Amino acid sequence: MKIIETVGIVLKTMDFKEKDSILTFLTRDAGKKAGVLHGGKSVRSGNAAKAELFVINHFEYSEKPSAEMVRIRKCELLESFPPLRKNYAKILHANYFSELMLQCEIPAVESQEYFDLLMDTLAQLSTAKTGIEIKFNFELQLLNLLGIQPNMETCVQCEGELWQKQSGRNLSPKFKVPYQLDAGLGGIRCPKCCSSNSSAVYLHPGSLAFFRERHTSLHASSAIRPTHNNLKELDQAIFVYFRHYFGRNLKSHALLKENSWKS
Ligand SMILES: [Zn+2]
Repeated sequence: MKIIETVGIVLKTMDFKEKDSILTFLTRDAGKKAGVLHGGKSVRSGNAAKAELFVINHFEYSEKPSAEMVRIRKCELLESFPPLRKNYAKILHANYFSELMLQCEIPAVESQEYFDLLMDTLAQLSTAKTGIEIKFNFELQLLNLLGIQPNMETCVQCEGELWQKQSGRNLSPKFKVPYQLDAGLGGIRCPKCCSSNSSAVYLHPGSLAFFRERHTSLHASSAIRPTHNNLKELDQAIFVYFRHYFGRNLKSHALLKENSWKS
């Protein structure tokens, strides 16, 4: 039996017996774990706040190689991101991030990268005005961690050029008509190769240009500012991309989409 001490972010909670909860949490050091938190449903036990979604706890747990769940020995609340909990749109975003993390296979050795990404993203979301751009940055970084970054250099179908040099060193889209992100082929189709299959989503040249720049720099201060429409197109394209990769729909996306693009 091993005893492990680490921090973890609660991704999922389930009622268990009368007063307990089963927590699924992403640890910094050991991948995802699940275990019973005694008194997780009881306010009097003082443990209810530690069984909330998206809180960061310090865990001490023991683990047997054959057991499905760990045994939580100690659990201390470290951070609960209060502003996040008071805003419905932010909760929808956090739900979506959690669902993505629940879908990912996270080996223990890569745990910290996933943990840091989620922790930083929740912290940003907690203080930001809106989550729309934070979500896009999260998705880009997750694509990198999973090693499934789309190929944006040449057309994935004909290998033709997608970009042309403009004044200075900036690349701009070669065509003025829509391209596609094709999840099946893992990259961009040039306008000549666009096809009507369910894993290909149209992207206007402006959305593609922003996608490439943010993908390359991963800094929110990039030179190209996204329009509402850029982010909306990319939302759909990346949704389809993840759906293809995971082989299933992300349930939390429907509500998030409805809430983000209603205007
Ligand atoms: Zn092509």
